[in-house]
Amino acid sequence: MKLLTIVVPAFNEEESIPLFYGEIIKEFESIRKEWPDMDMELLLVDDGSKDDTLKVIRSLREKDKKVRYVSFSRNFGKEAAIYAGLKHSRGDYIVTMDADLQDPPALLPEMLSAVRKEGYDSAATRRVTRKGEPPIRSFFARCFYRIINKMSNTDIVDGARDYRIMTRKMAESILSMKEYNRFTKGIYGWIGFNTKWLEYENVERVAGETKWSFWKLFKYAIDGIVGFSTAPLSMATYFGIFMAFVAFLLIIFIIVKKLVFGDPTSGWSSLVCILLMLSGIQMFCLGIVGQYLSKTYLETKRRPIYIAKNTSDEEEEE
Ligand code: UDP
Ligand code: MG
Repeated sequence: MKLLTIVVPAFNEEESIPLFYGEIIKEFESIRKEWPDMDMELLLVDDGSKDDTLKVIRSLREKDKKVRYVSFSRNFGKEAAIYAGLKHSRGDYIVTMDADLQDPPALLPEMLSAVRKEGYDSAATRRVTRKGEPPIRSFFARCFYRIINKMSNTDIVDGARDYRIMTRKMAESILSMKEYNRFTKGIYGWIGFNTKWLEYENVERVAGETKWSFWKLFKYAIDGIVGFSTAPLSMATYFGIFMAFVAFLLIIFIIVKKLVFGDPTSGWSSLVCILLMLSGIQMFCLGIVGQYLSKTYLETKRRPIYIAKNTSDEEEEE
């Protein structure tokens, strides 16, 4: 028998989970027809939900032993939830997907056959459209992917979802990356392995609402850049060289002007502008160093990525 683990991070998803469960069980039955040697476990990671998510998960567990759960002591974020899910998973193949049915379960058979039949290590999905998303958000998302791919050697795919299937081996290599600031899209690119990309149209979530505010997304984008590129750190060097060069030219210009034309020096306002601009650039560069420093600081503390308060395994041992 081969085991398929479906890892689902859930934060305040009391409404979505029962719907999700229904769909996934239906889909699994049709997978069973094609692959009779497949077993499934559904590993729900409650990311410190404030609503009745855990209660809903527990009642599913009572009915169906295929359901397992890990519940965090507080909200640690989706990245941490995925990490915990991989860590507690037992499957030979592992799928990560959202609880809100934005990741269509109907793609599962195709994903499974990519890893079982076609010899891929992973099959991942990307959205080809951003329909149903505010245009301004799509615009910034596009810019982000363009910038990060310029700055980083790691390949980060535009529109890639966290909906993906992987082999045990690939999951283990993700687990071996124990960094505290986790940017999954970068991690997948960094570890390599061959991935089959499946495309689909964006689907709206079934219930509840998105947990991503614009500000949260912005911070996530910074995390991604800081996590997978050191290019911004060298920006100060380039600015500095450029400014020194400009200053050198200006000095020559002023000396010549004084010697040849005998003009008295003037230009108080231009001086102020230049001062302001330069201190602006300096602050900006200092801020960049600060970003890297703060991430380094957090990494050196070696805090755990998540803290699990309850797990189905522990609770049933008692
Ligand atoms: N999620 C989580 N922790 C968080 C935020 C989100 O576990 O702090 C889960 C959420 O329950 C869902 C998935 O991550 O299963 C994707 O979240 P959401 O649908 O809000 O993101 P979007 O689809 O809008 O990118
Ligand atoms: Mg969603």
